[in-house]
Amino acid sequence: MKRSGLILFAFIAMFLFGSCTAETDQKPDNIILLIGDGMSFAHFQAGILASETPLNMEQLTKIGFIFTSSADNFTTDSGAAGTALATGVKTNNGFIGMDPDGNPVKSILHLASDNGLSTGVVVTCAVTHATPAAFIAHQPSRNMAEEIALDYVNSGVDVFIGGGRNHFENREDGRNLLSELEEMGYMMAYNMDEVMSVSTGKMAGLVAPNHPPRYDEGRGDMLPDAVEKAISILNQDPSGFFLIVEGAQIDWGGHDNDIEYIVNEMLDFDRAVGKALEFAKNDGNTLVVITSDHDTGGMALHGYDPETREITAGFTTGGHTGLMQPVFAWGPGAERFTGMYENTGIFDRMLESFGFSRN
Ligand code: MG
Ligand code: ZN
Repeated sequence: MKRSGLILFAFIAMFLFGSCTAETDQKPDNIILLIGDGMSFAHFQAGILASETPLNMEQLTKIGFIFTSSADNFTTDSGAAGTALATGVKTNNGFIGMDPDGNPVKSILHLASDNGLSTGVVVTCAVTHATPAAFIAHQPSRNMAEEIALDYVNSGVDVFIGGGRNHFENREDGRNLLSELEEMGYMMAYNMDEVMSVSTGKMAGLVAPNHPPRYDEGRGDMLPDAVEKAISILNQDPSGFFLIVEGAQIDWGGHDNDIEYIVNEMLDFDRAVGKALEFAKNDGNTLVVITSDHDTGGMALHGYDPETREITAGFTTGGHTGLMQPVFAWGPGAERFTGMYENTGIFDRMLESFGFSRN
């Protein structure tokens, strides 16, 4: 081989080897996982089409696909999907934080906590709803809201913000979990003004009796504001943090086959993504992962008017479908999340990113 060829070969080898190790060795201090419930490709594209400016998610280039089937069904529900993302275990539809035999399984949030990190949950539904519950609770049914609320009290989670106050207060067992949380040292916040006034420590933010309203019916900037607040509190822990964020109502717009509902929730979710990315870019040690738990509505986009930004959409179901879902990642080790894999692979990759073992 000629000298010039050798040098070129060495250069290419260095580049390939160097880029490989650089990408896979990176370990973030913090992970922010944002889940758009029911946010499939069509929902994402509808958000792009409806928005006057590019979405925050559009700037991300580390992209993957996940398969979403549950242990007992091609088409998953949010309980089994949330459990797969949170714990790396496929389970039956309706289960929360349990394997198909009913054994509790630890979530990435619990493992982060075990490893000394701070943890948080921010959602646009009741905090007891299936997706966030999968990170906190272990119950055989997603409908066991009061049991799930009790699991919050026992979870040690540092910050949680969403709706669902009723499940902590007006309970069949007569317990008042709000006073129990307060006695444990949580700052209690019952509306967004109170949430925004908390600056440190543990916070239970229960800003609605059940689910907060939809974005276009008065929820406003609750989600991006709550994400920003949760990050500012959790980031005070030098050990790092894990935060899970859910745009829960993209799914509900899908169930309603309501393109306006979907678009407004998509854009709100993207603003929350923007808050996470803004922090991560300044911080440099934060991995941001964005994904969906399943498709809702089987939506297709048939038409678009660039003048009015009006979208014509068709739906194949009022339920979920088994369509594969997008993954976006940004930050140290984002490369891990590219490619095509099962939804349980999100947990596996987060675990590897943190450098934790399962137990
Ligand atoms: Mg959900
Ligand atoms: Zn749904």
